[in-house]
Amino acid sequence: MENSKEMRTWLDDMGLDHPLVIAGPCSAETEEQVLRIAHELKDTDVNYYRAGIWKPRTRPGMFEGVGAIGLKWLKKVKEETGLKTATEVANRAHVDLALENDVDLLWIGARSTVSPFIMQEIADALEGTDKIVLVKNPVNPDLALWLGGIERLYTAGIKNLGAIHRGFSTYEKTKYRNIPEWQLAIEFQNKFPDLPLINDPSHITGKRDMIFDVSQTALDLNFDGLMIETHFDPDNAWSDAAQQVTPAKLVQIMRDLKIRKETN
Ligand code: PEP
Ligand code: MN
Repeated sequence: MENSKEMRTWLDDMGLDHPLVIAGPCSAETEEQVLRIAHELKDTDVNYYRAGIWKPRTRPGMFEGVGAIGLKWLKKVKEETGLKTATEVANRAHVDLALENDVDLLWIGARSTVSPFIMQEIADALEGTDKIVLVKNPVNPDLALWLGGIERLYTAGIKNLGAIHRGFSTYEKTKYRNIPEWQLAIEFQNKFPDLPLINDPSHITGKRDMIFDVSQTALDLNFDGLMIETHFDPDNAWSDAAQQVTPAKLVQIMRDLKIRKETN
């Protein structure tokens, strides 16, 4: 796949004077929760409202998402707030339902990027779409799997592409939930310099008090945007409670970050 500036047209066309911001809860929980967070994020820098409705949990027995009903809630978000919407898709059925319900941005999670068969299924289901599709890095620090997922989408005619750096699993316990391995993200940038690269400090840190510092590092490394999990009551969130921030905290983080975007 040749590196191509057309991959970042969707982002350039937005003409933002700040990094792209994708925010919203880890999981859609109830209609009220989804709408309340969206209303609290409405007049902020947030460009896309995220909510996971199919939740890939590493072990069974935990909340695995509300499923397709959540797509109706995301539609309401768009109608009531004007925010564009984003959700994770992990198979052909998810893609078909998300496209039918006009979700604006789809992302592929770290547990899907590891599987070439799933990536190919998703690429085939999305063939030719002009929706924005972002690929998270795989759970393991394997650059080729990440690049390969993007190549499969590009080959299926999906041109509005981007990547999300969410860190990598390790056996050793560190202060991170998923270590950033910044060098690997830089290698990724060198391979595809025109592909928008978004940082996900929520899943890298696993802790809300580390989100600012990781976000600042990402911006210093010229990342194009941030995906930050946001909930009005983080401690009682149904998933990823320790890492979510309130809408007010998100606004403060965005205000305090030093934005040093290189222009070329
Ligand atoms: C998420 O974004 O909520 C998620 C499940 O992330 P990841 O695929 O990075 O673990
Ligand atoms: Mn999460």
